[in-house]
Amino acid sequence: MTFSGFNLSPRIAAGVTQLGYQEPTPIQEKAIPPIMAGRDVMGLAQTGTGKTAAFALPILQRLERGPRRRPRSLIVAPTRELAEQIHQSFVALGRQTGLRSVAIYGGVGMTQQVQALRNGVEIVVACPGRLLDHVGQGTVDLSGVEVLVLDEADRMFDMGFLPDVRRIVRAVPGRRQTLLFSATMPDDIKSLAAEVLTNPLTVQIGHAAPAETVSHALYPVPQHLKTALLKTLLPTLGQGSVLVFTRTKHRAKRVAEQLAAAGFRATALQGNLSQNKRQAALDGFREGAYQIMVATDIAARGIDVLSISHVINYDMPDTPEAYTHRIGRTGRAERTGEAYTLVTPDDDADVRAVERLLGGRLERRTLSDFDYRARPANADEFARGPRPPRPQPKRAPAASERASVASVTHQRASAAPVPAVHPLPLGHDGPGGVHRTTMPERAGNGRPTNSQARRRNPSAGSSRVQGAR
Ligand code: AMP
Repeated sequence: MTFSGFNLSPRIAAGVTQLGYQEPTPIQEKAIPPIMAGRDVMGLAQTGTGKTAAFALPILQRLERGPRRRPRSLIVAPTRELAEQIHQSFVALGRQTGLRSVAIYGGVGMTQQVQALRNGVEIVVACPGRLLDHVGQGTVDLSGVEVLVLDEADRMFDMGFLPDVRRIVRAVPGRRQTLLFSATMPDDIKSLAAEVLTNPLTVQIGHAAPAETVSHALYPVPQHLKTALLKTLLPTLGQGSVLVFTRTKHRAKRVAEQLAAAGFRATALQGNLSQNKRQAALDGFREGAYQIMVATDIAARGIDVLSISHVINYDMPDTPEAYTHRIGRTGRAERTGEAYTLVTPDDDADVRAVERLLGGRLERRTLSDFDYRARPANADEFARGPRPPRPQPKRAPAASERASVASVTHQRASAAPVPAVHPLPLGHDGPGGVHRTTMPERAGNGRPTNSQARRRNPSAGSSRVQGAR
């Protein structure tokens, strides 16, 4: 199938061509026609399947007609980084439509967001807390919203945003089209879907498991030999970019240092870096100067590097959902990818849970030229992996994680403020306007987000003044 089958308007089709999309991904093929027909849709698909364009294209098509300069479509996403990414997709796909989009999230000042809303936008892409701040202050008018999208609903649930999401749903008109996307379908998301969707069509890609273009393997290894095994494994993987996940910031830093010392082009994404170093790491990874990036789940959220060929779980993720999200970083948009997990006997229960999700036993691999009986090389390895208490699948990100990511991004925003609103026409926003950051909406550094502060202290406003996007 080609995109021409969707009868997109020439201006929107031009955006698709400009992005180089040749044919729709499976979720686009399945979801675009019913969304264009006005149906409510529940999309079971993880990041990397092309789900953003699956809802952005029909929304742009709808908004091309009708009133301008008022919010008619609202997309709610769990993290700033994802909100920014969705916003940029609207910008790129809608470049020729004259429609305007704004990204609304916390950690930056409200002024530019207010200004953008005042100037008039048709598309609002927002994180829940900051959006409610605007609703509370009367700076956003949601009464004209025709299409509501709840993206990564399971992640919003994990991060404790469902009460905020329900408040937002109450603030938009009851007569609307609603689209809900989720990689997994826990009971709470099923109830939310039942509340917010009307006669929905369910579109499922890959049974909510990691993209089918990803193959999976386990590398059993004693804890103290993980880094040594990684060093043996990496040279066998070819030239693609490799994203390595560790459980903690400290481990990300240590593992990256050890790889770099061994001559690999490796860097870490973790919050103790200065913002410049952090950005250099991200850019270097995206552009190929670093082949390997070692990151934690939170720091890596939303990294959109299409050439990631391998995701390696240095530490087993805590939940099958986290596995799905990590693995969503490879095999993006139907490219193939490999997902390797270093496992110790401690990980047996988690391995079984992932195998249940994937619907089969995962291949166990051993490296023939690796000495599995080697003794620990003094400081080269962690004695044992720190593991948070379990079970607690629905926890918010650890405060230390949130702090690291939010605080450095805050500095970056100070260094280079960019406008909060991107008018879609090319003349106003060339390719240089595409920015990516990695920020959860929640403020880190132990401080509550604006919305949390507001709930504790209704008079607390959004105090940080910052150049907003
Ligand atoms: P998403 O799942 O929306 O985060 O998309 C993952 C990546 O796939 C993004 O980099 C998109 O630009 C890209 N993408 C989306 N649709 C297509 C398509 N039809 N063909 C090629 N790449 C696509």
